[in-house]
Amino acid sequence: MRKETLLTTIGVDPNSHEGIVNTPVYRASTVLFSSLDELERMHRGENTTSPYGRFGTRTSEDLERSLAVLEGADRAIVLASGLSAILVALTAFVSTGDHILVVDSVYQPVRILCDNELKRFGVETTYFNPMLGAELASLIRPNTKAIYLESPGSLTFQVQDIPLLATIAHNHGLVVMHDSTWATPLLAKPFDLGIDISIHSATKYIGGHSDILMGVLTCKEAHYKRLLTTFRNTGPCVSPDTCYLAQRGLRTLATRLKQHDKSGRTIATWLKGRPEVETVLHPALPECPGHELWKRDFTGANGLFSFVLKHPVPRERLAAMLDNLQLFHMGYSWGGFESLIIPFDPRPFRTSTEWPYQGQAFRLHVGLENVEDLLTDLQLGLERLAV
Ligand SMILES: *Cc1c(COP(=O)(O)O)cnc(C)c1O
Repeated sequence: MRKETLLTTIGVDPNSHEGIVNTPVYRASTVLFSSLDELERMHRGENTTSPYGRFGTRTSEDLERSLAVLEGADRAIVLASGLSAILVALTAFVSTGDHILVVDSVYQPVRILCDNELKRFGVETTYFNPMLGAELASLIRPNTKAIYLESPGSLTFQVQDIPLLATIAHNHGLVVMHDSTWATPLLAKPFDLGIDISIHSATKYIGGHSDILMGVLTCKEAHYKRLLTTFRNTGPCVSPDTCYLAQRGLRTLATRLKQHDKSGRTIATWLKGRPEVETVLHPALPECPGHELWKRDFTGANGLFSFVLKHPVPRERLAAMLDNLQLFHMGYSWGGFESLIIPFDPRPFRTSTEWPYQGQAFRLHVGLENVEDLLTDLQLGLERLAV
């Protein structure tokens, strides 16, 4: 079955739920054992069902199965947030005295996590240029345990050579982690690319409606036990209500993504033709670093990309532009139905790459509104910059 069909069929099991299409919200902390025998079987690890709400319920287990199938993984774990998924992945595979390699264009909170929390526990991080190839080998030390990729990178959208970097990492015995949030489970095949642990913020397109926080880890059987142990030992579980909403979001993911992609490319191409725009950083456009790799490794795009103006903008002009937009609202996160814009300067949180632009940069999330209305909003906004 193709992914659009899978999205509408996985986890649909009316026979176990009185004919009801969707798996209900199983709210649980306590799970009762029917006999001393059952309790003892659980202690011996022989019981396959969850013994306690923190370890999941049918609602989370059905969602995990759906996500594993969609990603081509053996297993999935759903967690409290994307960032908690990242924390569990990293702490599952590193210990005091270890070293990790993290892509320089990583989602900024991951850098904060590595430079503060992991550092306190004696784990050292080296940030590497996302466009690095074979030179990666020279950064690997005897105590390097993991490499962390995020392709395309946050805000600056560099597409990395995942298969090449993963091969080098595997030759040195590293675990390869990848933040797959941009791709969702639909636009790439992480395990065919050589990734060991695929990480998602389901907060974005999987939820799709700006009303949940959730993280996902997917992996092959070989890495599952280690991840599950750290997840269960640390407790960042997600509520069954949130799992229900994520499963519901998955049903329309393919349809929504197609529209985000279509409108996103229309707006990106339009921006490219604007006189005040220096460049558009959209993986489907040739200007984007790694565009050829994106064509090779991904099957589509979404509504998230950045653009850079030719010149810096005085603060009051920037406010005039942004404060009067009708459809592009300022806010973090992305992947919901609504359009978003955020001005940014990546320089304070990049340490191994030079940002080559002087002009004001913006990240856009193109939502599901009519694209002509979005273009009008942006055009009027850009005109307000110049006055
Ligand atoms: C939002 C985001 C995260 C963190 O997800 P939360 O669910 O907000 O914790 C991680 N990675 C990327 C690329 C993101 O955009």
